[in-house]
Amino acid sequence: MFGLRAPRESQEHTDSYYAASANWKTAYPRLEEDLSCDAVVVGGGFSGVNTALELAERGLDVILLEGNRISWGATGRNGGQIIGGIGHDPERFIKRIGESGVRSIYQMGIEARDIIRERVERYGIDCDLKWGYCDVALKPRHMKQFAQWRDFEKSIGNPHSYTLLDRDELKQYVNSDRYLGGLHNNANGHIQPLNLCIGEAKALETHGGRIFEQSRVTGLEHGDRPRVMTEQGSVIARQVVLAGNAYLGGLVPKLASRILPSCSSVIATEPLDPALAASLIPGDVAVCDPRTALDYFRLSADKRMLFGGLSNYTGLEPKDLEAVMRRKMAAVFPQLANVRIDHAWSGWIGIGLNRMPQLGQLASNVTYIQAYSGHGVAPTHMMAKITADKLTGLPERFDVMANINHLPFPGGKLLRRPGLAVGMAYYKALDAL
Ligand SMILES: Cc1cc2nc3c(=O)[nH]c(=O)nc-3n(C[C@H](O)[C@H](O)[C@H](O)COP(=O)(O)OP(=O)(O)OC[C@H]3O[C@@H](n4cnc5c(N)ncnc54)[C@H](O)[C@@H]3O)c2cc1C
Repeated sequence: MFGLRAPRESQEHTDSYYAASANWKTAYPRLEEDLSCDAVVVGGGFSGVNTALELAERGLDVILLEGNRISWGATGRNGGQIIGGIGHDPERFIKRIGESGVRSIYQMGIEARDIIRERVERYGIDCDLKWGYCDVALKPRHMKQFAQWRDFEKSIGNPHSYTLLDRDELKQYVNSDRYLGGLHNNANGHIQPLNLCIGEAKALETHGGRIFEQSRVTGLEHGDRPRVMTEQGSVIARQVVLAGNAYLGGLVPKLASRILPSCSSVIATEPLDPALAASLIPGDVAVCDPRTALDYFRLSADKRMLFGGLSNYTGLEPKDLEAVMRRKMAAVFPQLANVRIDHAWSGWIGIGLNRMPQLGQLASNVTYIQAYSGHGVAPTHMMAKITADKLTGLPERFDVMANINHLPFPGGKLLRRPGLAVGMAYYKALDAL
């Protein structure tokens, strides 16, 4: 498409700030034999690594197969923003999941962040974890929306306080003239996501989990003991969990038809002078605006501005990615118009039609989790936990999620992207009003 290109990919990490600041480079072996185990998990992002870890913590013999490197997909490329909540507006599904199901989803939305907190503490994972977050308003109606969000969080028993900020108060946290005000909380926060995920993979190893990289699963055979095949090996297991999300490709057509790999991009500046960095985001919070194609940004531990946005349904990135993102960043912080940009990258978000994570089973021994619609750092941890619960005899919360119906995208393979791109253009136009 004009002005756009497919993100450049190899089996190694993309050129992100996260890969450049990884605590170590993972080098797990390729699968080159036929193995068996209790559970084989496909996909080494937050969903897969944490499902494998949860199962291994409960004593199962687990194998994790990653097609590229641990944290290679969205997990190693995202904005690093830890945000509560699971999907959007579960009340829409009250007929299928009942009031108790809706309540359960709200509770999971609160619990999700605590899993990250506990995991970092328990395994001593060095991933620059910080708490603090601001939603920022571009329009007066955003402030009304924030007041509703604050009241809503209180109504569902969120123990953290949410504080509305006017334009001047916001500047104590986010010092940009662009915003009319904001909503601050310490429930959300930010992390170096790749370091969190490789730390979780290391924790998996301590529980006896076996990890294979550059071992893409190319086939799945159903049966009493299902089997997954890679180019040079295979694994037979009592349970298979598919967690390839937007990068799973066509392995299971039913799953592919329900997820649209959409693109979002991030830049990392050079390390800023500490005084400049502190003047831009004095609260060291993660920041998001509420538009469909939103801006999200924060400082890294070494004081780079990590600025993300440009979400779009084409799955493509701009050819001049760095220049486009620089303009977006300068609209928020004009002081950064000419700083050096050290890294620019894109990744695929798994979008689902109804914006709720998709959990379910293709058979009683083949389970899947996917489609966090751009909001997965904390929810992946929660969905991994309830998937492990399901496979170890505690099905209730998994079944709530699995009872939500997920329709395929209309238009089939050929037409769903153009159709949705038009849809996003419509929502962008609404955002601009
Ligand atoms: C640019 C960007 C910014 C984002 N920002 C945020 C944010 O700030 N906050 C937030 O909450 N969410 C954010 N997200 C979303 C979040 O990153 C994802 O929801 C989350 O990381 C999904 O994790 P996952 O493990 O399900 O998928 P992924 O991390 O994509 O992992 C899937 C893995 O499966 C592997 N795989 C696929 N198929 C196979 C196969 N057949 N065999 C073996 N391996 C396979 C892939 O190689 C990949 O490593 C962002 C996403 C992007 C792309």
